[in-house]
Amino acid sequence: MNMDKKIYDVIILGAGPAGLSAALYAARGGLSVLVIEKGINGGQIAATDAIENYPGQMLEGETGRSLADRMALQAEQFGAVRVQDVITEAVLDQEVKELAGQKETYRGRFVVLAMGASPRPIGCKGEAQFKGSGISYCATCDGNFFTGLDVYVSGGGDAAVEEAVYLTRFARKVTIVHRRDRLRAVKSIQERAFQNPKIEFLWDSVVEEAFGEGMLQGLVIRNVKTGELTRITADPADGMLGLFGFVGNIPNSSLVKGMVDMDERGYIRTGGDMRTSLDGVYAAGDIRVKSVRQVVTAAADGAIAAVHISAE
Ligand code: NAP
Repeated sequence: MNMDKKIYDVIILGAGPAGLSAALYAARGGLSVLVIEKGINGGQIAATDAIENYPGQMLEGETGRSLADRMALQAEQFGAVRVQDVITEAVLDQEVKELAGQKETYRGRFVVLAMGASPRPIGCKGEAQFKGSGISYCATCDGNFFTGLDVYVSGGGDAAVEEAVYLTRFARKVTIVHRRDRLRAVKSIQERAFQNPKIEFLWDSVVEEAFGEGMLQGLVIRNVKTGELTRITADPADGMLGLFGFVGNIPNSSLVKGMVDMDERGYIRTGGDMRTSLDGVYAAGDIRVKSVRQVVTAAADGAIAAVHISAE
């Protein structure tokens, strides 16, 4: 395994809003900064069509991805280095921390864990089989495959309702399947869905099963109150239907499991200064225990972590 010869002041894992904000603040503060990202910039916002609630973000045509790319460029302009690699092993309980990736091993005095969270599976039968052939977790990525078709959305939070509204651009009809009789999403997002004539709701319901031959052609919906099962099949002329899962997220913290303090769901516990239970290791953004998961709070976490690192 190759070893990057440099010992960075700060290594940031993840190039979402938390990681990129930490990179900007740390690099601008004069520290040497390495950002390691396994995929593209943005984390979860890369899969979002429009960000309407990040202060000042009113540029016409801006997507989550383009906003993240500008954040990355800004951090790079202050000297942050960004590499693409998948870290498979971390040694964090020593002064110079080591992160072994598929390409190289990286060393740094401080580490910011900003790996975010990933979509939680819907939990229905057939989910793995139809992933990519009818089941998706990203409306921006896959919405246009479902042009003119019936689409079902599982979930009732901000993501489910916002993405359901987005999917009406393509789909003939979008049905939100929610396990309760009230949405979790904030009122402003709910109202947009209630006013949209293409959106319908199946309350007190979950997707029990996905079925079809090759492509997703039907769903079994279970009413959680009555136990009643309803079989929905795609219009024969369509040949298929779509199912999008937005039932919350799972933190991407398995790399550091057992190394830093976490809650029972795997979210990392930090103080208000973003320090974890391990010296020199910070966490920022959706990966940590917090009550509000927004781009602005992720960016704030990153800034706070970097400022405290600069002072150490
Ligand atoms: P979330 O707020 O955790 O909501 C998850 C939804 O899925 C809830 O409605 C939940 O039902 C339902 N659910 C959970 N497990 C389920 C299961 N096993 N089967 C069926 N349904 C299940 O997740 P999110 O919507 O992905 O949002 C994550 C975070 O990002 C939140 O903090 C949110 O505010 C934020 N976010 C913000 C925006 C925005 O500001 N525009 C957009 C997207 C996300 P219950 O309601 O019954 O619990």
